Amino acid sequence: MIRAGTDETESSADVVRWIESEVAGLWPAMLGSLSFRRSRCGHANCPACLSGEQHPSHVLYGRHNGRRFAVYVPEDLVGEVRRAVDNGRALQDLLVQAGPRYVKALKRERAGALKRKKS
Ligand SMILES: [Zn+2]
Repeated sequence: MIRAGTDETESSADVVRWIESEVAGLWPAMLGSLSFRRSRCGHANCPACLSGEQHPSHVLYGRHNGRRFAVYVPEDLVGEVRRAVDNGRALQDLLVQAGPRYVKALKRERAGALKRKKS
């Protein structure tokens, strides 16, 4: 990840521009976990179930407002969903990194404004 400036010199506006430029490449994004599972179909004498192979499928799991959700993901959509989940993780990581950089920039700007007032 390219950093727009050093922690000692960047302004809060620099931090906002950095977030905007990084975020632009991270869509679509979603939070959740994509899991692979094997399950039985319930049909008697199903060759796949009898062999123990069962039926492979992908499921997107997540939680919203304390409630869990699970959505079946068809095989042909797994690539797209995985990309969005990876983007979501990268976005979350970016926002965590943004916190200290933004707060430090705001504090520097406030210190600069106080100095100018005093002189
Ligand atoms: Zn089966």
